[in-house]
Amino acid sequence: MRIFDPNRVIIDDSVPASLRDSPEYLSRRRAIERSLQVPDRFDRTCTHETGHVIYFRRAGFTTFEYLGPKIFHDGRQFRYWVAYVSPSQLNGNILYTEELLLGLARGAAAGGVFLEVLLGCSAIDNGSGDDLMSFGMHCGRAQVQWRRPLSVQQRWIRARKEVKLDLENHVITPDEIDRTKAEVISKCFSMTDSG
Ligand SMILES: [Zn+2]
Repeated sequence: MRIFDPNRVIIDDSVPASLRDSPEYLSRRRAIERSLQVPDRFDRTCTHETGHVIYFRRAGFTTFEYLGPKIFHDGRQFRYWVAYVSPSQLNGNILYTEELLLGLARGAAAGGVFLEVLLGCSAIDNGSGDDLMSFGMHCGRAQVQWRRPLSVQQRWIRARKEVKLDLENHVITPDEIDRTKAEVISKCFSMTDSG
């Protein structure tokens, strides 16, 4: 069995050498390192992604792209994440149904709700801003397919409530959470051999 060692985790640093003196780069790079090394922060990252995996699976997605820590410059700003999991099937063309859209809402909302319910994080601090944005993107596409406007916010609020209730009523068992979290850790974080 592989033992997780934060100091050996490979960080995909795609920032060109010419930008690596920048204070913004250095602070983001340090934020990644702290998220790996401080156990509470690491647990938050993994718990958040675990919520996504469990609820995207429930929505019917079976294969996932698991990404480890990455930092890059998108031409305008530095961007980074510590871990990122998303269903591979979302890359293709999707025919949206109301059921699928609600499944996607729960999958996206679950990251933040898991932090709130399981770790007592505040709703503001649950890291779900990007998740709401990516759900909004699916709503935008569904709107084009359905040729009628739809409410992102309504579905998001409903999804958050449903995931919260599931956790409170132990519909998602601690065992499923632990197993999925172990999977997230082993698939997202590659380590160097030496050390
Ligand atoms: Zn997320």
